[in-house]
Amino acid sequence: MQSLRRLDIKYVKGIGPQRAELLSKQLGIRTAYDLLHHFPTSYVDRTSIYSIRDFTGDMPYVQVRGRFVSFNILGEGAKTRLVTLFTDGSAGMEVVWFKSIKHMRESLHTETEYILFGKPTSFNGRWQMAHPEIDTLDKAVAQQGLRGVYPLTETLRNRNIGSRQLHTWICALLDSKAALADPLPTSVLESCRLMPLDRAIRELHRPSSPATLQKARERMKFEELFYIQTDMLIQSRRRKSLTEGFRFTRVGRFFNEFYSTCLPFKLTDAQKRVVKEIRIDTNTGRQMNRLVQGDVGSGKTLVALMAMLLAIDNGYQACLMAPTEILAGQHYETLRGLASQIGVNIRLLTGSTRAKERTVIHEQLADGSLHILVGTHAVLEDPVVFKNLGLAVIDEQHRFGVAQRARLWKKNTRPPHVLVMTATPIPRTLAMTVYGDLDVSVIDQLPPGRKPVCTLLRYDNQREQVYRGIGRQLAEGRQVYIVYPLIDENDKLELRSLAEGYDSICEIFSNYRVAFVHGRLKPVEKDYQMDLFASGKAQILVATTVIEVGVNVPNATTMVIENAERFGLSQLHQLRGRVGRGADQSYCILMSKYKIAKETRERLELMTHTTDGFVIAEADMKMRGPGDIEGTMQSGLPFELHIANLATDGQIISQARQAAEALLDNDPELQKPENRVFATAMRENTRRTADWSRIS
Ligand code: ADP
Ligand code: MG
Repeated sequence: MQSLRRLDIKYVKGIGPQRAELLSKQLGIRTAYDLLHHFPTSYVDRTSIYSIRDFTGDMPYVQVRGRFVSFNILGEGAKTRLVTLFTDGSAGMEVVWFKSIKHMRESLHTETEYILFGKPTSFNGRWQMAHPEIDTLDKAVAQQGLRGVYPLTETLRNRNIGSRQLHTWICALLDSKAALADPLPTSVLESCRLMPLDRAIRELHRPSSPATLQKARERMKFEELFYIQTDMLIQSRRRKSLTEGFRFTRVGRFFNEFYSTCLPFKLTDAQKRVVKEIRIDTNTGRQMNRLVQGDVGSGKTLVALMAMLLAIDNGYQACLMAPTEILAGQHYETLRGLASQIGVNIRLLTGSTRAKERTVIHEQLADGSLHILVGTHAVLEDPVVFKNLGLAVIDEQHRFGVAQRARLWKKNTRPPHVLVMTATPIPRTLAMTVYGDLDVSVIDQLPPGRKPVCTLLRYDNQREQVYRGIGRQLAEGRQVYIVYPLIDENDKLELRSLAEGYDSICEIFSNYRVAFVHGRLKPVEKDYQMDLFASGKAQILVATTVIEVGVNVPNATTMVIENAERFGLSQLHQLRGRVGRGADQSYCILMSKYKIAKETRERLELMTHTTDGFVIAEADMKMRGPGDIEGTMQSGLPFELHIANLATDGQIISQARQAAEALLDNDPELQKPENRVFATAMRENTRRTADWSRIS
């Protein structure tokens, strides 16, 4: 039974060593287990036949029924092809073969009726189908029902390995009576009412009905997500039980004095709640690893400061790390403004900190007189040693990798409490997966009196009107961002449109000073330009998305986003968060070409209707898939996902999480006999190598 996991596919009936090699290279399929887990990505109902006349738009794989009218062999040498005309009575289409030309020409006849299965494409207004699967009528009738379309590569198709061929091999395996042991513990199968593995695999390859197929897909998705959730929980439970954390037992002078005398406004309820969560967390004796999610402007900095004051009250030091020098500088100014009056000693360490100041910092860190160190990654590269670092706050997690977090811990003999702050609103179920080892707090409320940013969609032909609006804001002493999409900082064309944009803005608003930043500037020059704007010396900032993260210029009330149609929703939301930071009404103007796809227009219109980051993130994920998040995060997952989708399978993620909790409550190290098969499967499937050593 188990041997299917290791059975080389070259021994599967009909495959052999050469094709085995091909499958391994092209699809990563090496064992019978892999082959059985190579699932169709879609299904076609073999009972339904399309009319060629009804073909329209981007067509899926379909079946058509009809006769060949003519056969022509065209071209020479490598370009030889068999071009046929096929008609189903409603209309005709071309059917083309680039391979097996001679064989096809000999085996097809004009008098026979055929069922073709393939993907129609439109070429110069005519429908075409290349290398379809072909059945005579009687055969087609015999294989009615749902039929899987397998993911393939062009190379495989050219070697005549199509969906049907894969299906045949898989069926040979399924019919060989070999079975895979179900890795899921019986308790989980029962409590979650999941289809057993053997049945699910059979259903996926040979569905008996749409409903059972659905159940089978759910089961396989569950399995993938269950590995991840169990793994994450084991890691975090183990860390909690093994890693002793500092105990912040008291709320002392710094915290209290700040709260009663320095706080410039009332905390929002959400801020209070999160501060309380942090207080409880840091007093358990275990290390805190908490993610604070809060939309742009929700006041995360203040929460971070209060957590740091708590550390200081208990005799520890704290540090706050930001992804860029600009941000670190801004945090430093903010924190000093808020807390230096109560005698908190705060200093800034970045790549450009002078040697003299560096020495002071090193001394004060070592003797404990420095309370809070604000910095960039430089803090990690620097040979800084804290006397007793109790809390590390990391702003904007996604620019600050897990590896860096780990290096931070090495700054201490005992790992400090870690607070990660992010403004990237990640739907809860996704957070559960990608940040599965962190506890999550959400600041789901903005400070009162904030006026939502008024967002408008404008087309290129309304540009003059937009410029007049900018002129009015500037005349009132406000500042303006103009953002260009420079996705690829090396793209010459994009750079040119950015430079042209800058030139024309300088010309139109010649009475004002215009700062200019993009990713290709040297850091010193970039900081200089940013500073021009931040200090108010420049009234307009023409920029690329380098300003996306965290910059705080409350006097900037207008943001124009050029070619907004080229940005993703979440990115637009991040950009928009740069305005609306003061008391004045702010505006975000999305400039777009007039001719855009329907979905693009809907996306942009959503931005004009809502400012809720979570609504936007959710919509973004549904439209694009987890996209960026998936790209960077999924590669960090301990297990590969083949069938589950982080964006759309939220419900299954929750279910898997609950089941994993229950399983581990009952058997924390997965050592009970009934969970052995599962523990082994986890070990065999994981991409992680080291951490599993302790589980057997
Ligand atoms: P973010 O969560 O984006 O990091 P910040 O911490 O920069 O947000 O806060 C945004 C602005 O809101 C700052 O100017 C801050 O002083 C202000 N702010 C924070 N909390 C409150 C509050 N409870 N009431 C009023 N204003 C607040
Ligand atoms: Mg912030």
